[in-house]
Amino acid sequence: VSGLTKTRNNIVSGLNSIFTGFSNIDDDFYEELEETLIMSDIGVNTTEEILDTLKEQVKELKIKEPMECKDLLIKNIEEQMDIGENAYDFENQRSVILMIGVNGVGKTTSIGKLASQFKKNNKKVVLAAADTFRAAAAEQLKEWADRAGVDIVSGKEGSDPGSVLFDAISSAKNKGADILLCDTAGRLHNKKNLMEELKKLDRIIEKEYGGCHRENFIVLDATTGQNALVQAKQFKECADITGVILTKMDGTAKGGIAIAIQAELGIPVKYIGVGEQIDDLQKFDAHDFVEALFN
Ligand code: GDP
Repeated sequence: VSGLTKTRNNIVSGLNSIFTGFSNIDDDFYEELEETLIMSDIGVNTTEEILDTLKEQVKELKIKEPMECKDLLIKNIEEQMDIGENAYDFENQRSVILMIGVNGVGKTTSIGKLASQFKKNNKKVVLAAADTFRAAAAEQLKEWADRAGVDIVSGKEGSDPGSVLFDAISSAKNKGADILLCDTAGRLHNKKNLMEELKKLDRIIEKEYGGCHRENFIVLDATTGQNALVQAKQFKECADITGVILTKMDGTAKGGIAIAIQAELGIPVKYIGVGEQIDDLQKFDAHDFVEALFN
């Protein structure tokens, strides 16, 4: 795991000063610990659960030294994030991935990065530029498609997203594509609109490309902290979200948001974005993530 220097420095320096600075496990110790975890955007509820468990363990095991708590703390954090194995089934079958997210979070960039990764793994990829709402969206996506070396299907500005998807499915069928990555104008201005748009796309996929594996990914900007969590909650009410792509993790000291998303919403973080370049996207593994940040 790389690209997490800011978060790591923040958490590690915070925890080290607590573990070495306190000689007793007392209320002040727990308070400092709580503050450090919340400051890194792990989330209030998750932090409380982590600390409640820790307090019980300290009592039960009669632990006296703060330093002895460290491994327990790390284990508790991992347990909070444990929502089963993070599956990447879509990689090995005919799949459609819908990409949802508000403007500016890094949706276009993430689609480009994903397309490039799939391509490098010898997958045939087709992009559908079905965000026809925003003028520059299709052009921007075309640039990423060229960079990644994959095909793209787009329509005219303002055209029906459904018809773009329809054309993209035809193209995917003709080419025997493995993965169809579909950009959407999935925004939150209006929940009803969003739900209707997604339902429409769903129906087209069912009808034209039945039996394919489905994923709905939301793209969230880690630098927006707790707002990202709020967005995720709202999207979850509108669609069957199967994964999160958490962008700009390189630009924040509060990467703990990845923990909050998994622990509080139960949605797996599938990938993290760690830069603006095409290769700056990593698969997410909760265990590796916690190890990288806390050790
Ligand atoms: P969209 O409006 O959601 O499609 O967002 P874009 O893909 O256009 O990205 C918005 C900005 O965020 C661009 O300047 C990207 O280079 C930048 N960006 C996207 N992902 C990352 C990331 O993981 N790290 C960093 N540092 N910047 C990113």
